[in-house]
Amino acid sequence: MIDAGHGGIERGAVGVGGILEKEVALDVAKRVAEQLKAQGYDVAMTRDEDATLSLMTRSAKAASYQADLLVSVHANSSRSSDVQGIETYFPECCIEPMSHSYVQQLKSLVGYDDLHYIGVRSKNDQKLAYIAENIRKIKMELSKKLAFNIHDQVLKTVQKHKGAIVDRKVRKGPFAVLVQGTRPAVIVEVGYITSETEASRLTDSSYCDILARGIVNGIGAYVRAHTQKRKTA
Ligand SMILES: [Zn+2]
Repeated sequence: MIDAGHGGIERGAVGVGGILEKEVALDVAKRVAEQLKAQGYDVAMTRDEDATLSLMTRSAKAASYQADLLVSVHANSSRSSDVQGIETYFPECCIEPMSHSYVQQLKSLVGYDDLHYIGVRSKNDQKLAYIAENIRKIKMELSKKLAFNIHDQVLKTVQKHKGAIVDRKVRKGPFAVLVQGTRPAVIVEVGYITSETEASRLTDSSYCDILARGIVNGIGAYVRAHTQKRKTA
């Protein structure tokens, strides 16, 4: 599931020359989705137009699509026009395992009948807590791996085709789109639209194509290394 950050009435950051984060995010996200489809991946987008979506809706879409992962594309901003570079986030924490919504997610993920089958009798059952905690740990580990794969490939791909780029590292973030849900999730901040250099790069379609290629290469590296799933080509 590819998520374009913000949208509709939520413009996100505003950059040099009035460039809007929601537009940059959508442009790059669409290119990622197209390139993945061209490689035979089964891809969906949380939005493919200028629509307003809640954070909960984004995770819910990923869950109902039974996506293997969620990659959310954003652009960054700073008060200083000197700040540039790419950052990738993985979840800092997840929803408390036994919170009501987490139990609901878990039930929707594996089906309550399945939980019942393996001996979970109520939402306060210790087995459910154990399963939830393990899913949470797996999600954290895989999200971190996905973040490093994507970050690494975006830097390499941009450096190869478009020259130097500032590495602002892989970081932990408490963002809702990351912590909600049970699937691996990352946010890619593709550059600072408040930097003149990056704003002009991010409005250049060939640059956005290369960025998208980096993200796709990172997803490919992750899929090859960490999943058993075949592409659905
Ligand atoms: Zn954003």
